[in-house]
Amino acid sequence: MKKSKLFAAAGIAVCAALVFAACGPKGEEAHTHDWGEWKEVSAPTCEQGGTEKRTCRSDPSHTETRPVGALGHKWSAEWSKDEKGHYHVCENGCGKHEGEAAHAYKEGACTVCGYIHLSHQYEAGVCGVCGKRLYTESGEGSLIYFGEYPQSEVKEEAVTSVLAEKAGDLPTEENAGNWTSYGYYYGGEVTDYMWYIDVELDESRYRGVYFTEERNCKTSSTFLSYQGDNGYLTETVYWFRFEPIEWRVLENKDGTALLMANIILDGGQYYHDIGEIRTQDGGTVYPNNYKESDIRKWLIENFYETAFDGAAKQIIETSTVDNRTGVQDYASEDTQDKVFLLSAVEAENESYGFVTSASANASRQLKATDYAKAQGIQPTKDSEYFSWWLRTPEKQAGGKTAFKVSETGMVRGGVWWMGGGEYVNYVCNGIVPAIRLHL
Ligand SMILES: [Zn+2]
Ligand SMILES: [Zn+2]
Ligand SMILES: [Zn+2]
Ligand SMILES: [Zn+2]
Repeated sequence: MKKSKLFAAAGIAVCAALVFAACGPKGEEAHTHDWGEWKEVSAPTCEQGGTEKRTCRSDPSHTETRPVGALGHKWSAEWSKDEKGHYHVCENGCGKHEGEAAHAYKEGACTVCGYIHLSHQYEAGVCGVCGKRLYTESGEGSLIYFGEYPQSEVKEEAVTSVLAEKAGDLPTEENAGNWTSYGYYYGGEVTDYMWYIDVELDESRYRGVYFTEERNCKTSSTFLSYQGDNGYLTETVYWFRFEPIEWRVLENKDGTALLMANIILDGGQYYHDIGEIRTQDGGTVYPNNYKESDIRKWLIENFYETAFDGAAKQIIETSTVDNRTGVQDYASEDTQDKVFLLSAVEAENESYGFVTSASANASRQLKATDYAKAQGIQPTKDSEYFSWWLRTPEKQAGGKTAFKVSETGMVRGGVWWMGGGEYVNYVCNGIVPAIRLHL
């Protein structure tokens, strides 16, 4: 305490000597200082003052210093943002931040600064960082929205014209350009006549569909198509919006929900060749073998990859698909799949919400998306419902048929007086995927 007081007193003495030059060095005359310009000694920063100094032109040993006030921060009007939060930076470049706060997320985007958070950390389908949900439930848990698939047709000219421009030239058999051929059958051969292209616009995804020949109801034929009846014509581009898939919760237990699409999402054959009986690994594979079917391959390689992104895939469980229960003939081995069709037995399970008989019933009647209609599924006069495949092979026609649900909700197959099953090469049947979701 004493020491510091002493130093302070000495400082004042030195200062006084400089200002009042009358008490200058011995033998020198007192003069009025002739001060030069103030010059910066240390620059002020945002938070700390600096100093300036001036020197006497008559005697450079005479100097004077004065403090310069701190600049103060100059906060940017715009938000700066990073993974942790948003803030204003100082435009003086001091590196300080102001108004720093964690993002206020709503559906993965900050409502304050607009930051879009992409590296979600999902647990039980909810991101622990922003609260974005991989799936949403409604109807007291009877419906789940999860994954995306092209569904409703986009008819607004303002949108379709921009999409058409982005899609570029139309595909031809010789040059598909940016488009991808569906690889559908035509007259028994895989032929390039129907294409699609996925385009992003304003953070929404769209699928364009274009075909130069009609997609026929039998893989082997070049006639009988329902695309025109459904309102979809050759040589025209149609656009469909990717929308959340609505799933019906059939069962929910032990943290796992068994789901089926609540609408027909697509259409196609079960297997392309009803005349082909193959020998594989010493066994006989009939056209209605589910394990070796086109429809199973399509669900796994095409539907699954289109409908779910990386995070969504992580909460879809691999199911042991029972291909034998209730199957009298042509049963295939059980399969381990992430996506599958329901079986005839499952489609009559009362605990899933179906009636226990095969009879026509509303519990099994399904409508179809615009996209599925554009794929050519068969309409019924005066009905808004369509038929859809089950995975169960049927025994009546020598391995050429499989079960389906009719547009009236009847489980068809096995019982001749109910009309039997469907030839597996029938293309104009709906596809209704099923999955098990880890909740
Ligand atoms: Zn002087
Ligand atoms: Zn600053
Ligand atoms: Zn923010
Ligand atoms: Zn997140």
